Amino acid sequence: MREFAIAAIPADGIGPEVVDASLEVLQALEERSDDLRFKVTSFDWGSDYYRKHGVMMPDDGLKQLKGFDSILFGAVGDQQVPDHVTLWGLRLQICQGFDQYANVRPTRILPGIQSPLRNCKPGNLDWIIIRENSEGEYSGVGGRAHRGHPEEVATEVSIFTRTGVERIMRYAFEVAATRPRKLLTVVTKSNAQKHGMVMWDEIAEEVSKDYPDVRWDKMLVDAMTVRMTLKPESLDTIVATNLHADILSDLAGALAGSLGVAPTANIDPERRFPSMFEPIHGSAFDITGKGIANPVASFWSTAQMLDHLKETKAAARLMSAIERTTAAGILTPDVGGDARTKDVTRAVVDAIRTSNV
Ligand code: NAD
Ligand code: MN
Repeated sequence: MREFAIAAIPADGIGPEVVDASLEVLQALEERSDDLRFKVTSFDWGSDYYRKHGVMMPDDGLKQLKGFDSILFGAVGDQQVPDHVTLWGLRLQICQGFDQYANVRPTRILPGIQSPLRNCKPGNLDWIIIRENSEGEYSGVGGRAHRGHPEEVATEVSIFTRTGVERIMRYAFEVAATRPRKLLTVVTKSNAQKHGMVMWDEIAEEVSKDYPDVRWDKMLVDAMTVRMTLKPESLDTIVATNLHADILSDLAGALAGSLGVAPTANIDPERRFPSMFEPIHGSAFDITGKGIANPVASFWSTAQMLDHLKETKAAARLMSAIERTTAAGILTPDVGGDARTKDVTRAVVDAIRTSNV
């Protein structure tokens, strides 16, 4: 019997709606298997917790999470609590505290889902975006002086370390090497940003020497948006900084049909700490409580979790169940259907029960 301890942090908005759906799916996977068990513990951290306790999670939150095999996360964001509080108080604390330096964002067009790109068929867009997740533009370094005065000044400092860039670059080459096309695109803005970004390019050059089988090229982030939109088939694995990849992966999610289908994994490749799996979308105030949140992003991130736990059979079974559901046209409104969260969830659970994968 293989048993995994999973920490669920549904948090805000539609987070609980999609995490609950994922827990149902996990249970179905457990029932399909004779030797796989998930022991789920839910944590009520987030903006409601903040209203009661003044913090998004308790001081010893990381200590409470440390013993788990993985974390399933929903979303943060609340109309009454500032975004920088919700983000830094929970999600970023976990990512940084557990040194989950590789943020992995697979994107492809699922069967039955329409890309907004004209003539873009499922095979034309199949990417893995790897986002540096521990430093760069989101290192939280900077300050403000002379608040409210005309001479007010603010700095937002990007920190790039050789260790940080080298480890994400190596991770990206490793991922590219496992993909059929063995193609990596390194994104920077090294024409305008001449320190950290030039170091990225140099380190890419150095690391590439250890991966002679991987073809690689460089792109500036602005030109990259054009290539993603006009020549999606020319890309495969993509690595970029924290900020650049944040932006590019929202674009990628939209090109694949909706943010509601875009998953992400915050990975500690060295496996010292639990990794965290979540949809890339936020708390979606406009649809919270309506029962129409697309749970596919959360399901797909659950499949990423299973892969990370080396439960590749369960991961493949879940992905195939998701694809059978979308192919059958059981879709929420964000991807053009009229199904509800619970309809999609039930269809995926049924597909797992009857799966031959
Ligand atoms: P959002 O991702 O919450 O929503 C953007 C749009 O996409 C909305 O129209 C929403 O309805 C739609 N959408 C998102 N997920 C969907 C799903 N699963 N099914 C159907 N439609 C979906 O982004 P936003 O509106 O910019 O931000 C709302 C809040 O979420 C803010 O407080 C923001 O800071 C926060 N946020 C959190 C995270 C995170 O927790 N990782 C990520 C992004 C934004
Ligand atoms: Mn984002």
